[in-house]
Amino acid sequence: MDVSASVKTHVKTTNGMIRPDTFRVIAGPCTVESYEQFVASARAVKQAGFGYVRGGAFKPRTSPYSFQGLGEEGLRILSEVSGDLGLKVVTEVMDPYDIELVMGHAEILQIGARNMANFSLLRRVGAAIAGTDHGVVLKRGLSATVEEWLLAAEHVAAAGGDNVVLCERGIRTFETSTRFTLDLSAVIVAKRLTDLPVIVDPSHAAGRRDLVVPLSKAAVAAEADGLMVESHHEPQEALCDGEQALPVEALMGMKDVLQPFASAMGREVI
Ligand code: PEP
Ligand code: MN
Repeated sequence: MDVSASVKTHVKTTNGMIRPDTFRVIAGPCTVESYEQFVASARAVKQAGFGYVRGGAFKPRTSPYSFQGLGEEGLRILSEVSGDLGLKVVTEVMDPYDIELVMGHAEILQIGARNMANFSLLRRVGAAIAGTDHGVVLKRGLSATVEEWLLAAEHVAAAGGDNVVLCERGIRTFETSTRFTLDLSAVIVAKRLTDLPVIVDPSHAAGRRDLVVPLSKAAVAAEADGLMVESHHEPQEALCDGEQALPVEALMGMKDVLQPFASAMGREVI
């Protein structure tokens, strides 16, 4: 199948979020846990110089006994805090039933790795964002090929939603020293096959915070258009993914650490 031909016919670059001369960093906690937790983490994102904050309200947890997110209350916290700080929001939508609700609180809808092949969700999100300024971050499935990932984006586009950003977040391999294996080849391949922007999530790929900055540098060199990283004002207290969350000091240093690499690629870290 000629994926390149089909995907290229539909896509455009997301409004202002991704540009060829910028390297966009989206940061924030895995999950919105409370107003106090989110506002502290979001202030750090703002102080670090970034304009997009992430945080899950609906969480796809492997275990049904883990914290599942605050749901609608989490969305209200996201929009209130981001409105006060002047940040844009990226948050996951898991259920077609919640799409309109999530769109009322967030500019960018995340479709998580575990839902990449949920075709009815993809099509409903595509139809819902058609003709709006909303965008989608589409994560690569844990064991999806690049072709399957691009065709998932095509499902969103075929339903009318052409504002799609692909996100490589690591795939499952035999390696156990990292949570997943970050597949930077896939970033380069996807960018050759489509006009879609591609960002990298080093946090879920590594599963450990000491690898997040080195992998972020590698993502810049691999032609990525940006990053999505997890950060938390108190990582040791996080209800979800604390081991991979960057603490405030590391987030503050991120822009300066990445800019020389981004400059070499002709990009400004924003
Ligand atoms: C997340 O971004 O918190 C998340 C659950 O990501 P993924 O779908 O890539 O596991
Ligand atoms: Mn997470």
